[in-house]
Amino acid sequence: MAAIAQERYEDSYLYRLRHSAAHLMAQALTELYPGIKLAIGPPIENGFYYDVDSPVVIREEDLAKIEARMKELSKLDQRIVRMEAPDREAAKKLILEETTLGQGPEVAEYKLLLLEAVPDGETISFYDQQRTDREGKFHRFLDLCRGPHVDSTKEIKHFKLMNLAGAYWRGDAKNKQLTRIYGTAFETKEELETHLHNLEEARKRDHRILGRELGLFMFSPRVGPGLPLWLPKGAVLRDTMVTFLKEEQLKRGYEPVVTPSIASIKLYEKSGHIIAYRDKMFPFMEDEERETYILKPMNCPFHIEIYASQMRSYRDLPVRYAEFGTVHRYEQSGEVTGILRARGFTQDDAHLFVTKDQLIDEFIGVVDLMKTVLDKLGLKDFRARVGTKDPLSDKYVGHDENWVAATEAIEKACQTMGVDYFVSPGDAAFYGPKLDLIIKDALGRDWQMGTVQVDYNLPERFELEYIGEDSKPHRPIMIHRAPFGSLERMIGLLTEQYAGAFPLWLAPVQIAILPIADRHAEYAAELKVRFRDEFKLRVHLDDRRETLGKKIRDTQMQKVPYMVIIGDRDIEQGTVGVRSREEGDLGAMSLDAFIERVKSEL
Ligand SMILES: [Zn+2]
Ligand SMILES: [Zn+2]
Repeated sequence: MAAIAQERYEDSYLYRLRHSAAHLMAQALTELYPGIKLAIGPPIENGFYYDVDSPVVIREEDLAKIEARMKELSKLDQRIVRMEAPDREAAKKLILEETTLGQGPEVAEYKLLLLEAVPDGETISFYDQQRTDREGKFHRFLDLCRGPHVDSTKEIKHFKLMNLAGAYWRGDAKNKQLTRIYGTAFETKEELETHLHNLEEARKRDHRILGRELGLFMFSPRVGPGLPLWLPKGAVLRDTMVTFLKEEQLKRGYEPVVTPSIASIKLYEKSGHIIAYRDKMFPFMEDEERETYILKPMNCPFHIEIYASQMRSYRDLPVRYAEFGTVHRYEQSGEVTGILRARGFTQDDAHLFVTKDQLIDEFIGVVDLMKTVLDKLGLKDFRARVGTKDPLSDKYVGHDENWVAATEAIEKACQTMGVDYFVSPGDAAFYGPKLDLIIKDALGRDWQMGTVQVDYNLPERFELEYIGEDSKPHRPIMIHRAPFGSLERMIGLLTEQYAGAFPLWLAPVQIAILPIADRHAEYAAELKVRFRDEFKLRVHLDDRRETLGKKIRDTQMQKVPYMVIIGDRDIEQGTVGVRSREEGDLGAMSLDAFIERVKSEL
């Protein structure tokens, strides 16, 4: 498998279409809300928006009306024409004469501010929506814009206005708050409908809602933003993932290490994080000797200290230290989102110390492990992004030959393992090239998850060495890697991917036992112990005094893979009534047959 070509979104027709849809919305707004001031209206990842300063409040229920006017304006088949002004003066004249639509110059307030920011001597472009009506009268809607756009408004057919938000002019809270109107547009009706359907589906799968409903994790204002509390079922899910990865890592020669949550500032001065990472660190603390300590934002320097604690020979390498290391990063409280972007999270971290000759094989080993992990988690649709140096930047450390060798190692690993990848110049870390896994979920959304990075910088800073075959000291290369990315992020993704219905091996509760009446409770309790101790299954016994119907509904809500229903006949005949989450009622079967079924599925 070779590198796959990536068209940049910014170069695509869809991008131009969405940008044009933003202008079409602006045109509708100026007609519907006289005196409205337009600010900026760019295309964004899933659509477009326009920021406006409206004399009357625009509400969600007004969106239908705006959309309806956009439909009419689209059908008028207005030509979208690029115009240019040679300098700022000419542009200003054009704005005041042609964009204020006979209203006062104040409606152009934001456009004039934008114009001021254009560098001297630069041509200034506008896009004009033009048409001539039946009476021969010329109409236009001119907007200051870099473009590019589509050729006619009639190309903008499949769009929808989504929602409103507040947004400060230039993103600065000191400025006036504007109204941001979000919309989306697609090339075809089907694509628009799929997108809207997926949004609805995404709402239903939101890991923050499911996390609470399924008893996985919670947040508390008394604990603080971005600091999840893992509930019993969530903790079981985590343990299951950790156990799986630990076993895989042991097979592959990793050694576990455990390191503390805080360290002296000296460690981070040596690593350079104190400068490069300062804004992601929680405020520092001091002990009674006035020694400064830092809450751990990353595990690497600790593993390096362990490596450096003894003399290493080339025969010892590669050294692979793995730790499920909990780190804390000072994310802005506004940027914290559920467990996807938390302030406290656990990385499935490891650091490999390798010789130059081992780099390719070790990288292949890491990619192989990542593939194994994704396969087990049922995440089949993924690509790798190979982040390389931006040739124009000088922010990178290390010798060119090392960069070339490391980039080749990464590409070779992808090719050997049959992983689709694309090269993304400028996406390297400053200390070396890297590979990021991008997973497509069940709704077609991309998630950036696991990462592997080659690092020449930290071994240099810590003066790491090993004695080579030539009896001379050499510098090892470090590989940082985390196949999940973090447990939190991966569980967030899996929750949305499966809409909470985790595969049997991962499900926090694998089997729910539902006695029909009180007289079946004792047998059910015995069964629970057998499932748990003899067959090593995760079981929940629902012995509440509720009707069977209610118990079944509640178990379905919890998305438990199997329900085992116990009644008189089951006790007499040694059977169980089985309901599968996927296949529904399977009827009575012998206990052995049921266990056989579960074991084979596992
Ligand atoms: Zn524009
Ligand atoms: Zn690291």
